[in-house]
Amino acid sequence: MSRNLRLCSTQSHRSERPSNDAPSSWLCCWRFHAATALTLLEELSTVKISHARTDILSPARGVTLRNRRTRVIWSTVDLPLIERMQQSATAFFPATASSNVEAVAMCGAAPPVRELPLPGPGEQYRFHFDMTKCIGCKCCVVACNEQNGNPADILWRRVGEIEGGIYPSTQRHYLSVGCNHCLEPTCMTGCPVDAYSKDGITGIVRHSADLCIGCQYCTWNCSYGVPQYNAERGVVGKCDMCYGRLTRGQSPACVSACPEDAIQIELVNIAEWRTHYEPLANSPGMPSADDSLSTTRITLPSSGGSGLRRVDITHLQTEQPHWPLIIMTVLTQLSAGLFAVSTWMQFEHRGAISFAAELGLAIAIAALFASTFHLGRPIHAARALKMWRRSWLSREVLLFSLFAASATICSASMLFGNSATGVLGIFTSLLGIAGVAASARLYLAPGRPAWDTRITFMEFFATTFLLGVAAMTGLSKEDLHLHALLFCAAIFCALSMSLKIVRLRFASRHELFASWQLLSTVLVNKLLLRGAFLLLGTWLFANSQDIALKSLAFAALAAGEFMGRYLFFVSVVPSNIASGYLAAEAA
Ligand code: SF4
Ligand code: SF4
Ligand code: SF4
Repeated sequence: MSRNLRLCSTQSHRSERPSNDAPSSWLCCWRFHAATALTLLEELSTVKISHARTDILSPARGVTLRNRRTRVIWSTVDLPLIERMQQSATAFFPATASSNVEAVAMCGAAPPVRELPLPGPGEQYRFHFDMTKCIGCKCCVVACNEQNGNPADILWRRVGEIEGGIYPSTQRHYLSVGCNHCLEPTCMTGCPVDAYSKDGITGIVRHSADLCIGCQYCTWNCSYGVPQYNAERGVVGKCDMCYGRLTRGQSPACVSACPEDAIQIELVNIAEWRTHYEPLANSPGMPSADDSLSTTRITLPSSGGSGLRRVDITHLQTEQPHWPLIIMTVLTQLSAGLFAVSTWMQFEHRGAISFAAELGLAIAIAALFASTFHLGRPIHAARALKMWRRSWLSREVLLFSLFAASATICSASMLFGNSATGVLGIFTSLLGIAGVAASARLYLAPGRPAWDTRITFMEFFATTFLLGVAAMTGLSKEDLHLHALLFCAAIFCALSMSLKIVRLRFASRHELFASWQLLSTVLVNKLLLRGAFLLLGTWLFANSQDIALKSLAFAALAAGEFMGRYLFFVSVVPSNIASGYLAAEAA
């Protein structure tokens, strides 16, 4: 292949460009490429390709792609681009040097390419983003998606908007953020399957799609919202600083595509950065760098960013409910509570309640089964046990698996009248309580501020206590005299709910107050319904001896807890970088 040829297709940038080709020459047609990528994204949402030679013309941008074997049919196809291109055996003609000359004439010369030495001991690579240069064109976003073959709704690099001031002294700036390749990556420490690794030489935080089981825990743990779940593939993905391109001596796609030279890669001394990161890694419109020690250096405007705030501050939307997790958490808590209360009753000499053990076991198994539906790749669910030494998700899975196993032995022991039943009951109950604690702990995620509080422990244990007592009372034919205990549990539940609401209502942090705004507006009916279920269930228990009414009371309390857990998931406002105003409008 002649070295003065420049390829225009995605595939060609990935693999066909000669490794000894000077990046600067490739960059000569940088705006051409950006425009091409933009055009492709738009064109391919309306173009179907079949086998015949033709041209795809975008008159709006004056860009023509010569395609050897394609014919344009104006209908709809889906992204991602690369897979689509490969499936349809599409190959683009390389653009010639003369097209480069035309592109340079049209767009101007590319930014200079910097030499990037390998990191020395105690150093790593990082992004530098210069806010004073960024014009918000999103070429970096398009180039990133093109490079990584992502569909249009998955963005490993995003451009947010921040603004401030009073007319006529107003300011608007843009914030382009990929992964920050943090020094203490919270995405990595939480992952139950060790799918993340920090490269020993470059410091790049890499993700293995092969290992990932699609639990999405890392999307909660990264306060920048960097890992993005791809439902089509059942795994998350994220920016790896174009590791493959770096190893070939090329700049990351976003760096190459930026027409303003606003993104660069540079070296950072890790020890120095740990002590001096604060003024350089933080910016308006971004979460605090404290959470994971972001390494991205941000050059702020001369005002230092004072008075600037994110433009999406008023755009709120509810999060996904994660139904398998709602079912899993409420049922495991019910099961653990049931075991704990029945064991306590046994030691209070009120007799062994055999149905409690069997019911608790059945519920625990159903809960574990339900949890697998949350995974993008449920077939690999067993891998979640791997990182029990580090990940709270692994610990939760391990503890509840042991709980289910122990509950099975305990139920069998009870069935055969074994004398060890009491000890087994205590052991099983402790495992259940430990499982609930691990469950609550894993929701203390930096990327979900409304959960990241001890009140989450209160909420989870309140459900355990309430449903444990209610199931025991409501499903037993005998009067077990547990009304006082049930009343205490209901108070505990109401207290945890109230504390959470007060915390959110009076919070100064945007994400916390935004959760309150959701709960007090679009979710207010559900919140009231949750309280009504709690009141109704407690009142019915206090005023009925009849098994049918007691079962109804239990159903009301269980419905209230399911509703509470639904609100827990949908009302959380994730910490994230600011989004664009129009993107927020669309949301
Ligand atoms: S920005 Fe998020 S995904 Fe990237 S290394 Fe830091 S914690 Fe992990
Ligand atoms: S989705 Fe789960 S398994 Fe995959 S990388 Fe994130 S935390 Fe790890
Ligand atoms: S960083 Fe560069 S490419 Fe990205 S939006 Fe800003 S100017 Fe455009």
